Amino acid sequence: MIGKQKSWMGVMALGLAIIGENSWGANNLRAQGLPVAPPAVQSTPSTTALSQEALRWLTDLIKINTSNPPGAEEAAAKYIAGILQREGISSEIVPLTPGRSALIARLRNSAIADPSRALLLVAHMDVVGVDRSRWTVDPFAGVLKDGFLYGRGAVDDKGMLAANLAAFVSLKRANARLNRDVIFLATCDEEAFGDASIKVLIAKNWDKFAAGFAINEGGVVVEKGSKVLYTAVQASEKVTYNVDVVARGTSGHASIPLKDNPVSHLAAAIDKISGYSAPVHLTAVTRRYFEGIAPLVDDEVGKWVRSLDTADRGEHAARVISDANPAWNAMLRDTISPTMLSAGVRANVIPAEARATLNVRLLPGDTIDTLLGQLNKLINDPQVKLEVQQNAGLAAPTSSLENDFYNSIVKSAAQEFGGAPVLPYQSTWGTDSAQLRLHNVQAYGLVPFPLTEEDLKRMHGNDERIPVASFSKGVDLMVRIVNDFAVSH
Ligand SMILES: [Zn+2]
Repeated sequence: MIGKQKSWMGVMALGLAIIGENSWGANNLRAQGLPVAPPAVQSTPSTTALSQEALRWLTDLIKINTSNPPGAEEAAAKYIAGILQREGISSEIVPLTPGRSALIARLRNSAIADPSRALLLVAHMDVVGVDRSRWTVDPFAGVLKDGFLYGRGAVDDKGMLAANLAAFVSLKRANARLNRDVIFLATCDEEAFGDASIKVLIAKNWDKFAAGFAINEGGVVVEKGSKVLYTAVQASEKVTYNVDVVARGTSGHASIPLKDNPVSHLAAAIDKISGYSAPVHLTAVTRRYFEGIAPLVDDEVGKWVRSLDTADRGEHAARVISDANPAWNAMLRDTISPTMLSAGVRANVIPAEARATLNVRLLPGDTIDTLLGQLNKLINDPQVKLEVQQNAGLAAPTSSLENDFYNSIVKSAAQEFGGAPVLPYQSTWGTDSAQLRLHNVQAYGLVPFPLTEEDLKRMHGNDERIPVASFSKGVDLMVRIVNDFAVSH
């Protein structure tokens, strides 16, 4: 995703799919206190027909080029409005900027809406751009080949958009007795987070889709060897800051070296920062995640994962597992990645200033001032200053792991995927869910399609594709979730 913090899928591929082939069985699940699901339910003919229909919607949505910039999502919003109209569901197209409009539709449970109970199904319509020369198919043609649907947005996020739409429409077709309002929301500008983003939409139109619960992108169903290993449900996210490291000194002719050369001082500061490792801090979400992941990794690593939360071996365990997997390291602590570096205009001139940028990801609840205090102590150089950029991410509350909606997601995913574990997840990247959580929404991140590491890597990359069978399972999962949580039985 363009800009600051949003490339979540590549990280998923790196972080979540390294799990080995260990068997996970019902006994393992029981030992962890995780729900044990009945055997996988076969898709009924009606959901199979629905997912075939949704696959056509997804194909059509891929053909509507919503590369951001410019996004131009209004065309996709109109297409969705047409589908809803044929189902007898009215929707509202909400203009944000020229050519960019969100879409909101609602199925009501009663005349009096109770926003605190409502369920929001959210997905974004925009996609990242493509480098056509590196694709083997037309990225905007919706090519079906060898059991895969190819196209930009097939997974991120038009796949979920179509699956949400299918689940929403299925409620209407079944004339379901809803116990809460269900709201379908298609958003713009997720990839660039500019003038048409969910932040702007919320600021002007919150009353139109205010909800207590939401499901969005941000998690993953990890598949390996045609088997779902586990489902990761995002319940919280780290907070991004960009920090400039600025060294200043005396400019001069390079033939006479100076002790206060800013390039040298900056390099020394970056070296110290790179050696810094912030303290380990387990949150409610990461504690549960590591409990759940332990039985899925090889025995030696699993032993250390289980020792993470112990007083005597915790510190060593954190070192071992941080070395084993950089994504785990990033889940355990605040992290700093130096990403940009600039100094100098001529080879023979000592510059007056040298500058680097750090991309910082804070655990929920940690503060930038505390981290900068540590770094300043470490750098210990009056020539070097740390300056926080104004484009920080939002510190949002964590969604609860105890409410009925989270339980519905866990139960439904376990049922859909043959009892594979369902773990809460704290992402190292930001999503639109932060905006929702700041409005008291219990928001969870999925992407309900079982995907291999190989397919996860294609998102935002070349030849993005979704296995048709995975798409169908994702549609089934969304149908299960909305039925379990929003329909009176
Ligand atoms: Zn996305």
